[in-house]
Amino acid sequence: MRGKYSVLSILFSVMFMFLLLVIASRATETTKKVSVDGYTAVMQPALGTEGMELSADSTPIPTPAPTPKLILPSIDINSWEYMLANNSNNISTYTPVVVPIEGTTQFFDERAISYLNEFLEGARAAGFSPHINAGYRPYSSQRYLFNGKASQISWDGTYTYAEAVELAKKIVAPPGASEHQTGLAVDITDKHYKIMDLEAMDKNLLAWLKEHCYEYGFILRYPDKKEAITGWNEPWHFRYVGKEVAKFMTKNNLCLEQFLELYKKQETAK
Ligand SMILES: [Zn+2]
Repeated sequence: MRGKYSVLSILFSVMFMFLLLVIASRATETTKKVSVDGYTAVMQPALGTEGMELSADSTPIPTPAPTPKLILPSIDINSWEYMLANNSNNISTYTPVVVPIEGTTQFFDERAISYLNEFLEGARAAGFSPHINAGYRPYSSQRYLFNGKASQISWDGTYTYAEAVELAKKIVAPPGASEHQTGLAVDITDKHYKIMDLEAMDKNLLAWLKEHCYEYGFILRYPDKKEAITGWNEPWHFRYVGKEVAKFMTKNNLCLEQFLELYKKQETAK
């Protein structure tokens, strides 16, 4: 009998303890259940960054990151030197007045040819033999190149023509979207390349051009680190923007899209 009594008393004690625990945990529970669109979510108490519990009306005010104040060059941003040609800014059939680049079969905007000549002269003086692989390319030539690429992609029927056009945009700029159409861009290599083979190119020449281009008013237009913005990585493609802006962009590590954006922001802030 005694054994049976003690088993029962232990059982009751355990049940009582369990009941106490349940009540205690209910009382201290700080999580709340809320119903959001028919779902039940468990809300944890809001914690501040220091682990302090926040009351409903003490929403933390985000501190804005201090934006370094850039003193922008005072220029007419709509002037020809800053013309933007890319997939979101099509320059249609824009046709600059171009002149031949001496000793080549290529052309360049007549307003900037003297700066290009100085740039090439500088490269020669540094011991290189720069070659203009491509200069000005009119709308019609770009259309020819682009349509050729799209046809090449679609010819075997794997892709529809519309799909091929989209794929071609990743390889060749569509007519009106190529910077070569501005007459302000050149592809500079060490010799003629039918297909731009970076592996085969003179890396020392490309490095010199990249380092010194701003001194002559040029920028490396499609650096690898800006590919996410520009869509291209072309260590041979240089663009005239004028000495002041080239220096500013280089110093502040900006690509043309980012540089133009600064002026757009300034305009909307007025
Ligand atoms: Zn190019």
